[in-house]
Amino acid sequence: MVEHRRETSAERQAQARRRMVELQLAGRGIRDRRVLAAMATVPRERFVPSASRLYAYSDRPLPIGRGQTISQPYMVAAMLEALDCSPEHVALEVGAGSGYQAALLGELCAEVWAIEIVEDLAVRARSALLDVGRDNVGVVVGDGSTGLPEHAPYDRIIVAAGAPEVPEPLVEQLADGGRLVMPVGSRVTQALVIVERHGDEVTQTPGMPCIFVPLIGRHGWRPDA
Ligand code: SAM
Repeated sequence: MVEHRRETSAERQAQARRRMVELQLAGRGIRDRRVLAAMATVPRERFVPSASRLYAYSDRPLPIGRGQTISQPYMVAAMLEALDCSPEHVALEVGAGSGYQAALLGELCAEVWAIEIVEDLAVRARSALLDVGRDNVGVVVGDGSTGLPEHAPYDRIIVAAGAPEVPEPLVEQLADGGRLVMPVGSRVTQALVIVERHGDEVTQTPGMPCIFVPLIGRHGWRPDA
């Protein structure tokens, strides 16, 4: 009986996941097949607090504790599409939060490092990633505004929090031919910026408007600013 109830709930979540991909992502112009497939696979409900599980596939960000959020599914997909990952890539995520986007990166890349400044979020993210069987994603506690030099260079870097400008150490840790996607702007609104590095040449292209929690730390906002 308990087993039957669990299956029913898993099936309901799987249906909600399929609907999310169809309506919120493909229906709004996300075209990257690998991103759509990853989002159809990773169980988002395993990364949200149990009290919010019913809303795991709703069209909005959700609280994950410590004043932080798991981003809206569409924003996650738009960032991943802009990142343009390949199966051989090594990626860095700054702002692991719940671990959901890191799990998606794990589907899209060979190796992923995710750094989170709030220790208990990092601990929960690690356990959720373990729970869904992702073994190519490492979660580190620390200030990701200075990057994670011990595993650099990265083919892809994604920053899931907004900063006044792109932190220089992240650009330095980008591989030749690498790409970085992050929200840049004021504390309240930002634009999704794409940074590309070719040799010594670094270009920045501003994209869609977005609203993210602040990137704090040495190359981000002061926590109380
Ligand atoms: N990608 C996450 C997910 O899938 O749940 C959502 C990230 S949430 C929008 C932003 C995260 O960035 C928060 O968990 C916050 O604690 C973290 N953060 C802010 N500044 C940071 C920094 N300097 N280094 C690492 N993490 C940081």
